[in-house]
Amino acid sequence: MPTESLTRLSRRLGYTFNDPDRLAVAMTHRSYSNKSNYETLEFLGDSIVNFVIADALFHQFPDASEGQLSRLRAKLVQGKTLASISREFELGDYLRMGSGELKSGGFRRDSILADVFEAIVGAIYEDSGFDVCRERILYWFQSRLTELSLDDTGKDPKSVLQEFLQGRKIALPDYKVVDVVGLAHDQTFTVSCSVKEGELMTQGIGESRRKAEQIAASDMMTKLTQQLSMEKKLSKEKESVKQAREQNGLKKHDK
Ligand code: MN
Repeated sequence: MPTESLTRLSRRLGYTFNDPDRLAVAMTHRSYSNKSNYETLEFLGDSIVNFVIADALFHQFPDASEGQLSRLRAKLVQGKTLASISREFELGDYLRMGSGELKSGGFRRDSILADVFEAIVGAIYEDSGFDVCRERILYWFQSRLTELSLDDTGKDPKSVLQEFLQGRKIALPDYKVVDVVGLAHDQTFTVSCSVKEGELMTQGIGESRRKAEQIAASDMMTKLTQQLSMEKKLSKEKESVKQAREQNGLKKHDK
């Protein structure tokens, strides 16, 4: 890779390599070199990005559940996001690819751009160690991290159900463990969820009490929204019957 483009790319990344060869390897697709390409650096970078983002989220959202943290992390480290960071650096312009891949537009493909991003992370880690690498990752993700809110996670079904009921002044659901089978570390829980004093009942089965409750809550939401739309339909019908009667009445008066 020409020194010039390596320097330009380093400037974009905000990091100067002690060994610029590492950057060159990170920018090399397998179609260009079978022996020396970005794949093992990508392997390394993948888990570093995952860890650094997990750690950042853990501290940014101390009250979040494991599920919420997982969803936030998935959002940040998904290929689409990594590819868009690569595009900000215009990494596609620096990729070394075989002519076939080049012609088919590989340098524009999300999956390749995401891989190259991970490879660069791996290369910086190899070049300078974890602290420097982490600092760079956090800098690159800064705006995406600050924009993030727990509302992005898609709330868990129990919270959704609770808010739905509270909003309608209905008593909170009652969860009961109905059955537990299996040995200590391999148990299956059956949990019931009842609302409106048992008028509506659902059950969830899961490998933990919490998971079973979430499933029961999710089914309960389905039941409640079905009930709600039935009620709406009925009241609409009543309304139109009433209107028809009134109109008839008016007609009689007209005569
Ligand atoms: Mn990858």
